[in-house]
Amino acid sequence: MVLRLSTLFLRTLREDPVDADVASHKLLIRAGYIRRAAPGIYTWLPLGLRVLRKVEAIVREEMAVIGAQEVHFPALLPREPYEVTNRWTEYGDGIFRLQDRKGADYLLAPTHEEMFTLLVKDLYSSYKDLPLSIYQIQNKYRDEARPRAGLLRGREFIMKDSYSFDIDDDGLAASYEAHRGAYLRIFARLGLEVVPVAATSGAMGGSRSEEFLHPTAIGEDTFVRSAGGYAANVEAVTTVVPAAIDFSTAPSARVLDTPDTPTIATLVTAANTLAPRDGAEWTAADTLKNVVLAVDLPTGERQLVVIGVPGDRAVDLKRIEANIGSFLPIGGEIGVEPANDEDLRKVPQLVKGYIGPGLSLDEPVLGTEGTSKLLYLVDPRVVSGSSWVTGANAAGKHVFGLVAGRDFGWDAVIEASEVRAGDEAPDGSGPLEAARGIEMGHIFALGRKYAEALDLKVLDRNGKLAVVTMGSYGVGVTRAVAALAESYHDDRGLTWPRAVAPADVHVVAVGRGEEIFAAAAQLSGELEAAGLEVIYDDRPKVSPGVKFGDAELLGVPTILAVGRGLVDGVVEIKDRASGEAQNVPVGEAAAFVLNLARR
Ligand code: ATP
Ligand code: MG
Repeated sequence: MVLRLSTLFLRTLREDPVDADVASHKLLIRAGYIRRAAPGIYTWLPLGLRVLRKVEAIVREEMAVIGAQEVHFPALLPREPYEVTNRWTEYGDGIFRLQDRKGADYLLAPTHEEMFTLLVKDLYSSYKDLPLSIYQIQNKYRDEARPRAGLLRGREFIMKDSYSFDIDDDGLAASYEAHRGAYLRIFARLGLEVVPVAATSGAMGGSRSEEFLHPTAIGEDTFVRSAGGYAANVEAVTTVVPAAIDFSTAPSARVLDTPDTPTIATLVTAANTLAPRDGAEWTAADTLKNVVLAVDLPTGERQLVVIGVPGDRAVDLKRIEANIGSFLPIGGEIGVEPANDEDLRKVPQLVKGYIGPGLSLDEPVLGTEGTSKLLYLVDPRVVSGSSWVTGANAAGKHVFGLVAGRDFGWDAVIEASEVRAGDEAPDGSGPLEAARGIEMGHIFALGRKYAEALDLKVLDRNGKLAVVTMGSYGVGVTRAVAALAESYHDDRGLTWPRAVAPADVHVVAVGRGEEIFAAAAQLSGELEAAGLEVIYDDRPKVSPGVKFGDAELLGVPTILAVGRGLVDGVVEIKDRASGEAQNVPVGEAAAFVLNLARR
């Protein structure tokens, strides 16, 4: 059916919505694709729904190509399975929880690993049933701390989530590769540039994991790449570790009075004045900065950690959040921030500005006695034998020549400091450069974590029960609509690629003459009959300026204007994205547009 603007459920807006700061959010609202229902929660209007359905169709086709079968789970789920995997707790404030009339706990699913695992356990019992990939396209709910940018980070959003089930590691590797290929094809067909980057598996656990990032300045993820082909989310970059140093002849450490040197800069100045060394000035890179961080666990507890990093590098809280899970008693949503004064008061051994290694490490600090301790973690550059200028754990004192592995130890090594442009790629493929991106998809080789927790076992070739190995794979479907709007627009409106546009052609009747409307209606009908999707602006009393403005705002790839030229037997056909226009005889117009649409 031709969509007639006189009756289409649509109101375009001249003004940007006040709560919108990125182009995709502004334009999707102004062009009448979506409306805000609540913070981070959106209603889909007819045109928006068309774009959404096209994105979904491409995803479904590519899932079919790799043999994944579609199912559909409820979004409202019972607590128990999430209790078994501990995610009921680990998600902390990140999920929506509710109770039924009997007081039983439920949640709105943030992702569905548990339910898929249980479904397969319910139905399958033999290796002969595997491999299996199943997926759904479904609403997800996450109580995001900072919903932003409209559909880009919503609290309700649509995800395509698939799960693979294999009997062995080779099977999982094949399922993972199949999904990786499907994702590259999905984003290519959508017209969304993506860079697959190595990622941390974070709360999901598992071995291999990659994100598909769409490069854009408004992205919340920072990734790095090298000319030699390395690409990783900053959170997943591993530091090139210097070789250990022989310290057998290193002089012993000495403590010096360094009054009023609470910062790295003042310490470096003092070091060069009080303890000048031959050959080289002291620099920030010679110092070991010990930063106290407070870790907010999903249980509501707060735990302090001290992290030692070279003084010339800032700590990167996102890298720490992604990597600290393995040193804590619980996984899940972990927030890390600099410790505040109140935190520090609880641990008098921490002398602000003069903190060094070597504090009593097993001391219970916060929370239940004995369950949390003051962990001391260090950057990978703190290798055995490296020598540092660092705090002496006493006001106004620093220690010089403190040798790692001789004079101090640590609980564990953590990727804690910032990755900088120019740092070496871990695979030796050259210096890194940094860019920002939006995460469009994420694939995980989960392994056996969920299958083990939920006891998903099948009989293997030898008739023995074996734990199934799994993968989980997500595409942000509603986020893709926003990312497309973000990459395809200009100052007048949206410029959809044809694969996802809400229609192929936008026919505009310009002027008042009856013959103009008759010809425009006729052409719309012909195009529709030829299989195209047509929007027809048949509004009788709307000015040409408003009509063209709306056509440009809506962003359908081809605009066909029937107006003054009609007396000479021509209509104007314009490419929305390039602005190129040409007059075409009325009789050839339909064929011309068809040709554009089928190219
Ligand atoms: P992010 O790091 O952006 O919060 P995530 O790592 O939590 O995302 P996953 O759990 O990997 O997301 O979910 C799979 C996909 O779902 C993501 O790659 C993304 O495209 C999409 N997605 C996740 N959270 C949101 C959201 N709040 N709004 C819209 N899409 C989302
Ligand atoms: Mg992710």
